[in-house]
Amino acid sequence: MKLAGGGQIREDVVAKFVFVTGGVSSSLGKGLTASSLGRLLKARGLRVRMCKLDPYLNFDPGTMNPFEHGEVFVTEDGGEPDLDLGHYERFIDENLPRASNATTGQIYSSVMQKERRGDYLGRTVQVIPHITDEIKERILRLADDEVDVLIVEVGGTVGDIEIVPFIEAIRQFRREVGRENVCYIHLTLVPYLAPSGEQKTKPTQHSVTELRGRGIQPDVIVCRSDHPISDELKRKISLLCDVPINAVVSAVDASSIYEIPLLLHGEGLDATVCQILNLEEPGREVDLSAWEDFVRRVHEADERVRVGIIGKYINMPDAYLSVVESLRHGGFALGARVEIEWVQAESFIDADVSADLDNLDAIVIPGGFGERGVEGKIAAAKYARENNLPCLGICLGLQVMVIDFARSVAQMTGANSTEFGDALEYPVIALMDDQIDIVNMGGTMRLGAHVARLKPDSQVAKIYGATTVTERHRHRYEVNNRFRQSLEDAGLGLTGVSPDERLVEFIELPGHRFWVGTQAHPEFKSRPDRPHPLFRELVTAGLERARERTPHLFEIEAHVPF
Ligand code: GLN
Repeated sequence: MKLAGGGQIREDVVAKFVFVTGGVSSSLGKGLTASSLGRLLKARGLRVRMCKLDPYLNFDPGTMNPFEHGEVFVTEDGGEPDLDLGHYERFIDENLPRASNATTGQIYSSVMQKERRGDYLGRTVQVIPHITDEIKERILRLADDEVDVLIVEVGGTVGDIEIVPFIEAIRQFRREVGRENVCYIHLTLVPYLAPSGEQKTKPTQHSVTELRGRGIQPDVIVCRSDHPISDELKRKISLLCDVPINAVVSAVDASSIYEIPLLLHGEGLDATVCQILNLEEPGREVDLSAWEDFVRRVHEADERVRVGIIGKYINMPDAYLSVVESLRHGGFALGARVEIEWVQAESFIDADVSADLDNLDAIVIPGGFGERGVEGKIAAAKYARENNLPCLGICLGLQVMVIDFARSVAQMTGANSTEFGDALEYPVIALMDDQIDIVNMGGTMRLGAHVARLKPDSQVAKIYGATTVTERHRHRYEVNNRFRQSLEDAGLGLTGVSPDERLVEFIELPGHRFWVGTQAHPEFKSRPDRPHPLFRELVTAGLERARERTPHLFEIEAHVPF
């Protein structure tokens, strides 16, 4: 099939497509709704893949400030996509390729490259058809033989200027792959007005009108609200927005994000989507018992573990989204409720550290860039080391642990990373020689999955239950090989290295309950029902500490009759 701009749509596309758009307001939870639908379709035995189209001009979020945009997720193949990809992977339990996140920046960039190469044969290059074709091609490329349903989330809100080419592309898409192969879901807000005690449908109507103005009639409307949408209100939305009543879905606030798939299933979302896509008989029973068991565990967890995150972006908790989720996953597995304490690394001066950290059960020193707050993180690493406080260092976290150890134990006064100081006597963290000339900031880090070999008798090998592991990376700096021997001689365990032994991947401290650092980002591989071993173990160590500190409390609880 020919695309309007001269491209070709594959004849053999067998996948079905679900497009999720949002209206009224941003941050309504489109990503979570899309991910939950993904989980439900997977529970129906379908092979699901997900992707996100982002209307901003950045090539990818890799260079974006976490204060503004939240965490940068990392895929196995080294993509630096939007944090929604993390929700997708956690919910549908599939690794997604970097191509699962396309931005306006990437789309224009490839169209411009094609233009310079002369691929357009002298024609005028325009948003329609060339940009829209590029968008459609990217969607189609993801719909290979291994996919039954591709769920595509369109970032931004209908009505935004930047979103127009995406909406136009997905509108054309249905015509080109066939009506029965495409389902449009529109997410809106139904606000509750306290003074009148009413839920209002007007914003939904306006938003649907806006979408229709761009040529798309939604098949399903998901209404976000803090109160359930009554049948009467559903009837009204059904009538005014012209969708069947079973396609008006109430998505009421949930107490845990992992409850959302169950709520949406209760509203029949997956059955309705399957019906629209001609996928199977409506009313088919779906086995969600494993997910239900898991959600029950989430609610039943009663022991508490207080885990501090020593960060710099703590006013933007989304900057550490996958770390927080991984800690929670660790708690779910152990029947413990992880309470996150945000600790502002910048505010530390040595004397304050114990006041801030003493009543915590464990800490995480997460990844980060730039000098702000680094001395506070080094102080936290030191406090944890000296007080047997369980501590997991992630990427920059490992680096500050090495700096602390070098300064305080290996007698390398003033040791630091070359990221934070010049002309250092002890640059224990530094760029590898082959990286020193890098001038481009985007995509030039060590990115994606890399293998590490663990020492067989090490703590990390026991935790993983393996001596060869693969983790995702996103950093420029490494432990400086010049100081490896001295650090080891002073007692630091460099217990995981790259297969060629050039790079230190894991550190630990023999004799400490849990003082473990990894140069990688294990948080990107944790799944709700399959917590990452490092987080599970950190929470286990935290639980032990919590029990030691308040033994009487646990004894009393242990005697409470069932
Ligand atoms: N800034 C450090 C580096 O580039 C750590 C990066 C990170 O924590 N992701 O190596």
